[in-house]
Amino acid sequence: MQETSDLLSRLSESATLAMARISRELKAKGLDVISLSLGEPDFNTPDFVKDAAKKAIDENYSHYPPVNGYAEVREAISNKFKRDNNLDYSADQIVLSTGAKQSIANVVLSLVNPGDEVILPAPYWVSYSEVVKVAGGIPVSITTRIEDDFKLTASQLEAAITPKTRLMIYSSPCNPSGSVYTQSELESLAAVLRQHENVLVVSDEIYELINFTDAHASLGTIDGMYDRTITVNGVSKGFAMTGWRLGYIGAPLWIAKACSKIQGQFTSAPCGISQMAAKAAVEADPAVTHDMKQAFLARRDMMIAGLRAIDGLKVNVPTGAFYIFPDASSFFGKSDGTTTVNNASELCNYLLEKEHVALVTGEAFGDPNCFRISYAASEDELKKALVRIKRALDELV
Ligand code: PMP
Ligand code: GLU
Repeated sequence: MQETSDLLSRLSESATLAMARISRELKAKGLDVISLSLGEPDFNTPDFVKDAAKKAIDENYSHYPPVNGYAEVREAISNKFKRDNNLDYSADQIVLSTGAKQSIANVVLSLVNPGDEVILPAPYWVSYSEVVKVAGGIPVSITTRIEDDFKLTASQLEAAITPKTRLMIYSSPCNPSGSVYTQSELESLAAVLRQHENVLVVSDEIYELINFTDAHASLGTIDGMYDRTITVNGVSKGFAMTGWRLGYIGAPLWIAKACSKIQGQFTSAPCGISQMAAKAAVEADPAVTHDMKQAFLARRDMMIAGLRAIDGLKVNVPTGAFYIFPDASSFFGKSDGTTTVNNASELCNYLLEKEHVALVTGEAFGDPNCFRISYAASEDELKKALVRIKRALDELV
């Protein structure tokens, strides 16, 4: 009998990965698809990182590493946290994992009991809600407003906390909105959290290096938050190393130990060669990633201008990551004469079928009015995509 578990039937396929898969399949059939669906830099990994990996191979970093990662790599990450984030995590408070995705799964599985509530300011990254479901927890999505740049306010947070709240998970810079929380915005959220001592927070800072405000704030540095914050980061985005699969946390020791225990049963340590590559990345001056960031900024400006020229789209200006999250609700109920578009998922299908532009529906991120554009693509592709999106949306009446 081909019957999978109840857990699997509660789980959605990752919408970002699904859209990437569909665009690959269509491209393989010969269609001219522009894929703005997957959140990954289109740059290659810097040479100095590749060289460190080659050296690690030659030096035989080929055995099982300790489950939480090589001590020398955790030491380097401890220094990075001090240097860049003013966060004091000793090497034993750091756990390396096979991508920040696994880091987040470890934390959720370590902390969330069935029935526990996990606050997710929406729009949130697709995998947060699904990992919470794996743990038997209840994702509590809190809708933010485009007028607030999709940021959670202190009063919204206060209203969302119940005796069952165990965790909050947010990212800054944010996937999918591109928003960046300022120090004072985090301070006002921390003032609420300090009143609720059982609530822990995952601060996902994986887009730290793609921040156009140049002011990255870490929740763990704010009064009363260090003991309750798990800081997630990794090398996928800032160093264009998505395929190396290397993420990490800095956390209170008891949580780091719990994450190691879980990881020891699922995957053991992440690939040793990737760990040594990541060591070179975090040891480098973050300024080495400046050019990539500037390229993203130029593309953001071009995309914002293009999207604002489309009647009916509501677009705010994101200050980080490489995403734009337009509100397309004014198109719902409209038709091109053949297809009627009733929600963001249908709108994304319409754009894919009609103009072969792959985007991701906001529904997957907890916001059914919007869709996500990843502008980590070449300027030529982005320009072509803008023409196609405008053409398709202009036809909806
Ligand atoms: N958090 C956020 C907000 C992300 O966008 C991603 C994207 N991949 C991840 C975590 C996971 O990153 P990775 O597993 O590649 O380190
Ligand atoms: N985080 C990226 C995204 O949101 C990569 C895909 C994924 O891991 O879900 O597109």
